[in-house]
Amino acid sequence: MTSILHRDDSAYDAERSGFQLLAAHEPDLIVPAAGPDDVRQAVTRAAAADLPVAVQATGHGLPVAATGGLLITTGRMNAVRVDPATATARVEAGATWERVIEEAARHGLAPLSGSSPAVGAVSYTLGGGIGLLARRYGYAADQVRALDVVTADGEPRHVTPDSDLFWALVGGRGNFGVVTAMEIGLVPVSMLYGGALWYDTDHLEDVLRTWAEWTGSLPDEMTSSIAIIPFPDVPQAPPPFRGRRVAHVRVAYTGGPEEGEELLRPLRAAGPRLVDTVGELPFTASDTIHSDPKDPAGYFATHTLLGARPELDALLDARDVVVEVRHLGGALAKPQGHPNSVGNRDAAYYAGVLSPRLAPGTDTGALRPAHDRVMRALEPWATGGCVLNFLYGDNATPDEVRKAYEPEDYERLRRLKAEWDPRNLFRLNHNIPPA
Ligand SMILES: Cc1cc2nc3c(=O)[nH]c(=O)nc-3n(C[C@H](O)[C@H](O)[C@H](O)COP(=O)(O)OP(=O)(O)OC[C@H]3O[C@@H](n4cnc5c(N)ncnc54)[C@H](O)[C@@H]3O)c2cc1C
Repeated sequence: MTSILHRDDSAYDAERSGFQLLAAHEPDLIVPAAGPDDVRQAVTRAAAADLPVAVQATGHGLPVAATGGLLITTGRMNAVRVDPATATARVEAGATWERVIEEAARHGLAPLSGSSPAVGAVSYTLGGGIGLLARRYGYAADQVRALDVVTADGEPRHVTPDSDLFWALVGGRGNFGVVTAMEIGLVPVSMLYGGALWYDTDHLEDVLRTWAEWTGSLPDEMTSSIAIIPFPDVPQAPPPFRGRRVAHVRVAYTGGPEEGEELLRPLRAAGPRLVDTVGELPFTASDTIHSDPKDPAGYFATHTLLGARPELDALLDARDVVVEVRHLGGALAKPQGHPNSVGNRDAAYYAGVLSPRLAPGTDTGALRPAHDRVMRALEPWATGGCVLNFLYGDNATPDEVRKAYEPEDYERLRRLKAEWDPRNLFRLNHNIPPA
């Protein structure tokens, strides 16, 4: 077995740290897994000592940070193998979307990856996965064909869609085991009409209203979102946006450049753009659509799901935070592939609030009022549901996690948790307690 790290080992801090700098797991032991056998031995050891288990690939989705327990890091298990004949990929636990995108693109294929290719593909997918092509192809979770997983009894298992465990893992994620690899379907996309439209402060109101109306009559081939971003007046901020509060509209269209250009006409007429990058774009450059930060950072985020097209004017008052609204619906509302436990498929929009650039240990309680104001403004349209993938830190409580599922599915997940992990060994995560 790979060497185990203790708190006083020099490699301990580097191994436990990830993309989220606000906090980090502080386990008693870390197992830097090099393969499925390391995962199996780590889970067996944790079960024998009754140590709770946490798992980390990149740290983009850190839940409440663990104090104690055993952390399995999967970053070294990052192989990706694409089978062009079946348009599928086998993706190991620690692989990021970037690797899958590269391998798939060699065959004119793409995964249902999201705004940041640096995110771990397995966790993103098992948490639902609302990607750049979401309205056209649905949840990434719906593309899962099979999983290799180590369950709480230390057994490695190959899990296929005919089992309850498959249904629970795809949506319920790490509550039911440590996934060592997944097999997913890929889609035949190599080029998009996509990119970003950036508008200056004076045009925020017009752009918000135009974008919201525009989303009311779009084909499923168009997936888009809007963010209002206050850029600080510091040298590190990109020059066109430095010191400005800008609107950032992101689009990904799979229906061809001519139709795409025609569809975008109302958005381009909403005001002059500071920058307009929308054009023919290889999927390998799809990270430029959102331009998510690449370097580790401290962030606090809250969100809600909306059942109908909201009025977005209230977002203009949210001056100190980043607000983002993603257009859902389309194929997200129509389950594809094998049944799984991903919930809230009827949501029409996602709305998120982000406090970026936070120093480690920042008191997030002080940030809540600004976040709550946005949530209150959107309350008339809120469904009460949430997205597992977008629950971070203190927000990843069992009460919030419950809102990611349909009520009857949540009860079934709790019963399956009691069957597969009755001691709740896997509880240092987005936890579903056993029934
Ligand atoms: C910049 C950014 C952009 C994002 N964009 C999108 C987006 O467009 N769409 C979207 O849906 N989500 C998005 N997310 C959310 C992201 O999908 C989740 O945070 C996801 O959990 C990150 O996975 P990770 O492996 O990178 O993170 P990690 O923090 O390493 O993992 C998150 C959790 O997943 C569980 N886990 C990880 N690996 C395993 C495993 N092998 N087996 C079992 N459980 C495991 C663990 O409980 C872990 O705490 C984004 C997040 C960020 C920070």
